[in-house]
Amino acid sequence: MKVYSGSEIRNVAVVGHNDTGKTTLVSQLLFNAGAATRMGRVEDGTTVTDFDQDEIERKHSISAAVAFAEWKETKINLIDTPGFGIFIMEARGALRIADSAAVVVSGVTGVEVTTEKVWKFAEEYALPRLIIVNKMDRERASFSRTLDALQKKFGKNVVPIQLPIGEEKDFTGVVDLVSMKAWKYATDGSGKYQVIDIPDDLKDSADSWREKLIEKVAEGDDTLMERFFDQGGLSQEELMDGLRREVGHHQIYPVFCASASHNIGGHPILDAFVSLLPAADAAKTIEGKDAKGQAVTFDRRPQAFPSALVFKTFSDPFSGRVSLFRVYSGTFSSDHAYWNATREHEERVGKLQLMQGKQQVAIPELHAGDIGAVAKLKDTFSGDTISAKDHPFVIEHIHFPEAAIPFAVEPKARGDEDKLGAAIHRIIEEDPTIKFARDEQTKEFLISGQGQLHVEIVVAKLKKKYNVDVVLHPPKVPYRETITKAADAHGRHKKQSGGHGQFADCKITMEPLARGADFEFVDEIFGGSIPRQYIPAVEKGIQDARVKGYLAGYPVVDFRVRLKDGQYHDVDSSEMAFKIAGSLAFQEGMAAARPTLLEPIMHVDISAPSEYIGDIMGDLNSRRGRVEGVDAEEDVQVVHARAPFSEMLTYGSTLRSLTQGRGSFHMEYSHYEEVPKQLQEKIVTESKKAKEAHAAAH
Ligand code: GDP
Repeated sequence: MKVYSGSEIRNVAVVGHNDTGKTTLVSQLLFNAGAATRMGRVEDGTTVTDFDQDEIERKHSISAAVAFAEWKETKINLIDTPGFGIFIMEARGALRIADSAAVVVSGVTGVEVTTEKVWKFAEEYALPRLIIVNKMDRERASFSRTLDALQKKFGKNVVPIQLPIGEEKDFTGVVDLVSMKAWKYATDGSGKYQVIDIPDDLKDSADSWREKLIEKVAEGDDTLMERFFDQGGLSQEELMDGLRREVGHHQIYPVFCASASHNIGGHPILDAFVSLLPAADAAKTIEGKDAKGQAVTFDRRPQAFPSALVFKTFSDPFSGRVSLFRVYSGTFSSDHAYWNATREHEERVGKLQLMQGKQQVAIPELHAGDIGAVAKLKDTFSGDTISAKDHPFVIEHIHFPEAAIPFAVEPKARGDEDKLGAAIHRIIEEDPTIKFARDEQTKEFLISGQGQLHVEIVVAKLKKKYNVDVVLHPPKVPYRETITKAADAHGRHKKQSGGHGQFADCKITMEPLARGADFEFVDEIFGGSIPRQYIPAVEKGIQDARVKGYLAGYPVVDFRVRLKDGQYHDVDSSEMAFKIAGSLAFQEGMAAARPTLLEPIMHVDISAPSEYIGDIMGDLNSRRGRVEGVDAEEDVQVVHARAPFSEMLTYGSTLRSLTQGRGSFHMEYSHYEEVPKQLQEKIVTESKKAKEAHAAAH
């Protein structure tokens, strides 16, 4: 395998909405370039980049995969990404390390939710883009309608560079507006084509679109503009040069048409990757931080210091954990020690490889610009930078959003808790957007992801890969109890049973404290009415009792107990007796101090296109939410609100249906508040029922 240098490499993230044909297109391109001996199909699980068992079964990509095509002395690294909203961070991670994006849309459905999202990311990273209108063979496919939609959404820099020959079942080839030739494809899916003259019925529109293309290219360059007017046109070479420059400067997003599954339109796309998209060494420097956190700039050349960003990790049944990385500067060699600058430790890099889907191809070294893989790194994860020990360098990776809503997971088999924890931690190494924790209060294992489907995929993985069978349910709401007024109480424990008796007596005052203060115990005994050694026992008795709760079994918080007085007996008093007296005083105090339930309130930020904001606010209202402000960001608005956790347990699916999948939200714990009276009764009754059921079962 040849070692390519940056100028001979193109890194293209293939992004777009789910089901637009990205994986099929990657298969088509690999096949056309001779990197695959047959054209993989999503239907029978034979594509190069959907190789995870789960992906094959779901017929969708759920994580990014890398493959490469060698075309015209150039190595094209293709990063196939998932188009599902919840895996959008995979696409974002791919765009972060790519040098350009191929945005795939369907000629039937046009611009969709994820198209807009990935476009925004590409904008953020200032990536040159080309657009592929796929599925031109499908019923109701329309190039002009799709083009209109694209231009409406992304502006007039969206310019066709091709026109389809025929549409729907008559789609047989493409007209190239640069060479003014056309390619007609074989109907057998071999990708073979004939160069033909532009069909008569397309000549006029080809002329007029070519003129528009030339005008657009010349717009960015006065001398070209003059030449265009002087010569009455541009040569093919001039046009290509101008086009390359304008694509690089985001002044043109050229549009192609294809049918990936029928293998039509593949080779011009490969050609365009090579001739229009920037090489991997186009940028000469990269910004990052040194060991002290100071901003530094690194030279990107192969002879400079090495740096590479790990953008993905996955576990392979044969090789163990595999890390995918992009080399930004210098050259990496197999079997060499490097430095994980993010975590600050040495990391031995074994055999370097190139990824061809799940296949790995050994390679001795990797130059700046290339994308490679290495297995079994000891302690390196997605987002880490590997560099040289004497020249540490950290490249900023994307920030993963906090997971939205937790689910409680419970192993089906008792005793599988440890196995569950270990397996989930391995899954998190691959996908850092998953969060896993144990709730101290409810004792549940909580797992959260970008939504329910995301969590379900984790559950499927747990079962298939790690053999841990779990059930999911909404988490228990960690309610709490507190008091609303001060009260005096008395606890007296006295038992006379034959010989040795039991005796303890205490008097306390309970007072409410501010939210978040939890619990305070103040010893105000003077003169030894309770001997020193028994005072901690009184506190312990109250502590134990408050954790068990009074109203509905939830811990009692935000109150103070003053221990004021008491009595003891020389023989019959004991620690145990004072503990019991303490808990009796607590019970009496609770009854008198007007107890109430508290619930967690969440801070929620919801963003969605403006047209949905009314519905979102109405819905929040019905969930006892309080809107605290709305920010407008371009055509998206962000609602800031607070709402009870108990009302937000399934908010992910609600928001999806309210906004047709275009909204997203972030939620975090804010504070505790009193539960409205009418709801308290319900919670108390439910907790009683649960307690009875529990008692009956044991
Ligand atoms: P992705 O989710 O964007 O990666 O899309 P896939 O490559 O998984 O394709 C989704 C579905 O569309 C599969 O059933 C493909 O066979 C089908 N498909 C992909 N490209 C084309 C195409 O050009 N024409 C037609 N008719 N179907 C296609």
